[in-house]
Amino acid sequence: MILAEVLIERSANALNRPFTYRYPFQDKLAKGVRVIVPFNHQEVVGYVINVINDPRDKVTYEHESGFVINDIKRVLDQSPLLDDELFALAKKVANYYLAPLISVLQTMLPPSLAPRYSSLKAPKIHYDKYLAILDPSEKDLTPKQIELLRLIYQNDKVLKRDVKSPSIVKKLIELKRIREIAIEAPRLKIPEFAKEQKKNLTPDQKKAVQAILHGKSKTSLLEGVTGSGKTEVYLALSEEIIRGGKNVLMLVPEISLTHVMVEYYQRRFHGKVAILHSELTPAEKYDEYRRIARGEAHIVVGARSAIFAPLKNIGLIILDEEHVESYKQDVVPTYHAREVAFMRADTNNARVVLGSATPLLETRIRAMRGIYNYVLLPKRINEMPLPKTTIVDMLKGYNLCRESHMFSKVLYEKIKDRLARHEQVILLINRRGYAPSVICRECGQTIKCPDCNIALTYHREDNMLKCHHCGHVEMMSKTCPHCGSKFLSRTGFGTERIEQEINRLFPNAKTLRLDSDVGKVRNNIGKVIEQFRHHAADILIGTQMIAKGHDFPDVTLVGVVLADIGLSLPSFRYTEKAFTLITQAVGRSGRAHKPGEAVIQTYMPTHYVITLASKQNYEAFFRQEMLVRKTSQYPPYTYLISLTIKAKNEEVAEDATYQIANELLNKNYPTVKVLGPTTPYIPYENKWYMRTILIKYKREGELRKYLEQLLLTLQHKPSIAIMVNVDPFDF
Ligand code: ADP
Ligand code: ZN
Ligand code: ZN
Repeated sequence: MILAEVLIERSANALNRPFTYRYPFQDKLAKGVRVIVPFNHQEVVGYVINVINDPRDKVTYEHESGFVINDIKRVLDQSPLLDDELFALAKKVANYYLAPLISVLQTMLPPSLAPRYSSLKAPKIHYDKYLAILDPSEKDLTPKQIELLRLIYQNDKVLKRDVKSPSIVKKLIELKRIREIAIEAPRLKIPEFAKEQKKNLTPDQKKAVQAILHGKSKTSLLEGVTGSGKTEVYLALSEEIIRGGKNVLMLVPEISLTHVMVEYYQRRFHGKVAILHSELTPAEKYDEYRRIARGEAHIVVGARSAIFAPLKNIGLIILDEEHVESYKQDVVPTYHAREVAFMRADTNNARVVLGSATPLLETRIRAMRGIYNYVLLPKRINEMPLPKTTIVDMLKGYNLCRESHMFSKVLYEKIKDRLARHEQVILLINRRGYAPSVICRECGQTIKCPDCNIALTYHREDNMLKCHHCGHVEMMSKTCPHCGSKFLSRTGFGTERIEQEINRLFPNAKTLRLDSDVGKVRNNIGKVIEQFRHHAADILIGTQMIAKGHDFPDVTLVGVVLADIGLSLPSFRYTEKAFTLITQAVGRSGRAHKPGEAVIQTYMPTHYVITLASKQNYEAFFRQEMLVRKTSQYPPYTYLISLTIKAKNEEVAEDATYQIANELLNKNYPTVKVLGPTTPYIPYENKWYMRTILIKYKREGELRKYLEQLLLTLQHKPSIAIMVNVDPFDF
């Protein structure tokens, strides 16, 4: 009989092994297809990873093994979903990130093809019905029938729904003169842009292209201040690679940047571009995925998961703004697109470019040590000076604007001045919503999320309280849930509040807001960016989304409304993130021909992050921050793996975590340090209690083997769930 080894769709560690089923049908079963199988009295979707021809029959098999063997109910796919390269890649990713293989497959495949029950309802290929000629003979036809026959003949084929006389169509089909054909119809319409003449590269850009293509290492860091022309280098590189008959993967960290990048690429490489990101509908994703798999695109532009695009013969992988956190997925599998890029580059013999004005310290140090080619774009295009920046101490009352405590006199005056000159302004406030907390003035309690115990943010647009961690929402209450008092105060401010305040202070200015709330409506992000680029508004208010990569030629003032957000959070990465964010935001100012300015409002005017970011002095920041990391032993001086242990019972979680920590300590691995157990900042999630352990290590040695063994052991303890995060982005 034919047996299939099937991975079950549940991605829990406890089920991370293949289950064996009997294949009861006649036609051949292929590896890599999805099947429906019974599991624990339910129907689930599985993914066939192996097909075995077992000489025994069912009865003997069950007798000898002691297991009841179930039958595959149905096969869902006609051919394997992944080619050998991608399946091998899935295994590598699962291995490296110690994640269940099924979770990697689910991440790799678009919703319609993912091994998941919900994929059964997801859209499949969409066909348009056409009418085509079968026999052009006009014998015995009525004039009306002949008219339609000739019409179809002249047009080769005609969309059926465009023909207004269904009865004549029916008749002609019956008479075998025409037939219906189905043609696959792509649902994604990639906008057409006028073809663009390529720019003459500056000498620095030319040098960069050569260094990346011919440098000693396959990987290059392309470091260049904001506005130094990195995008133009990506385009030139892509052209070279495509001319050499290979394909290009172009990754950007967020959806808000894909629109712009798609436009750049579409202008240059008309029709050869495919897009993959989370804003596409499942139907569009499915079509694009298949188009790429068929080899119809030479360039794939997309966000993180586009690194798994079924593009063949890859010659170049680019990660723009490589420092951005969103390249790392924070749920299992916790992969980083850069790491996956290296794996794919290895098999494809491709080059990798990591581009940034503020590279991660890890990347920068590797470039300095020659592990990557270190490629610099030292100047802004046209030698535009960097924006002149003012730091304002918001603790000093005399600095504050009389009309609003959220703004300083300086920023207020400069906004007024830009509006008068008809130039544009960007205001960064890295917090969405109206007020980050609601506090009872009677009992002093903050309204908190019932699921994760952190303060709920007030959103004015829909008058609701939202948890920015887990997505919990509730109606804004009129009274305190603890004491019933009516005196609730909304404290602090976010994007909504700043927009309201700006509208009050400058009633004639048009404003736009950009944050992930705006992004909840599909395609809104791209629209807002387009509108602002075309000067449909004077002031753009937003979160980190507005800081990255965009090129707004009329912006001459950037205001960082509160630079301190996040600076005192307990994570080794926060200073780096804050530095990057402020530097990037300030860099949005004065990019075309008008000089730019920036104002940074802060309560910590002498903090090195603020002073160095204001000068865009990455070099000094790098040196300072490397010292901090060395003292505290964090990356790049050590590697990290974090373990999160969850259980429904707090004691069980606590005990299990202690046990693991002790076990690790007793192993005395030479370069391994164990920190914890600790209770995370957000201590429970969906009624599961969590504890964490942070492992620091310099050489992996035996550690990985231990962790693999640990995961196997825990497979037999379903009351404990474990999540491993290899190279956590922050901790
Ligand atoms: P970065 O990505 O490094 O911040 P961009 O690639 O957005 O910089 O380039 C900044 C500006 O300079 C853009 O408006 C771009 O069109 C322009 N630019 C880039 N390279 C050239 C060039 N070689 N000649 C003329 N303009 C250029
Ligand atoms: Zn109260
Ligand atoms: Zn929550």
